Amino acid sequence: MAALSLRNVIKRYGHGPKANQVIHGVSAEIADHEFIVIVGPSGCGKSTLLRMVAGLEDISSGEIRIGDRVVNDLEPSERDIAMVFQNYALYPHMSVFDNMAYGLKIAKVPVSEIKTRVDKAAKILELGHLLKRKPRELSGGQRQRVAMGRAIVRQPQVFLFDEPLSNLDAKLRAQTRIEIQKLHHDLGITSLFVTHDQVEAMTLAQRIIVMNGGVMDQFATPEEVYNRP
Ligand code: ADP
Ligand code: ADP
Repeated sequence: MAALSLRNVIKRYGHGPKANQVIHGVSAEIADHEFIVIVGPSGCGKSTLLRMVAGLEDISSGEIRIGDRVVNDLEPSERDIAMVFQNYALYPHMSVFDNMAYGLKIAKVPVSEIKTRVDKAAKILELGHLLKRKPRELSGGQRQRVAMGRAIVRQPQVFLFDEPLSNLDAKLRAQTRIEIQKLHHDLGITSLFVTHDQVEAMTLAQRIIVMNGGVMDQFATPEEVYNRP
């Protein structure tokens, strides 16, 4: 069974004669553990697609499944997903530990289990020595690792990344990209990663979805996408 499937997904913004259809029937079957990168020009619908999978945006028609569940009508918190944004979205007044633990506290995960999961994520992301710091006391790369840690501790079935590296300088971008590769290697979480950076797409993707004007132009390996005649 696919970890994630999109079946003829359509998105319109607005209603009636003024409605603007921005996603025109996208279908894709994504396997367990697969790392999928979504590329395409600005405005082609990458964010909208990701936000529909996350439940941050309603779908106008079609079906989205995560595992064996149709999630069309489920709240973001009821979907087995975690999302990493480009602007980190950390809580400034909370320590690194509390930032990573917050979602689990809300979900009423027992304190001892929270500690185990946060410590494990901190170890993987080399954040163990920073757990007491506040976000303002961290570098951009460290903040983005905290944002990833907060996502990992939820042990989601699907990981969504919305241009997570685009606020980092070139060096940190390369480092963090390698972190993400390592994370996927170690944890194998099915991932959807939006970017407009070809290097990120080439190095991270097992398959690439190429979007163009709300249509899925290609769904193929990096070799096929970038070497086509
Ligand atoms: P991308 O992420 O590829 O840059 P988006 O998914 O953000 O593209 O946008 C796809 C299209 O949908 C664009 O034409 C954009 O203007 C439009 N759009 C995005 N969000 C909204 C919204 N909340 N209301 C109306 N139109 C929107
Ligand atoms: P991105 O390219 O990362 O999607 P944008 O600047 O296009 O960022 O969009 C930022 C926010 O504005 C998003 O939440 C998007 O849904 C919303 N948005 C984009 N285009 C429109 C639009 N035409 N009308 C209303 N909201 C929009």
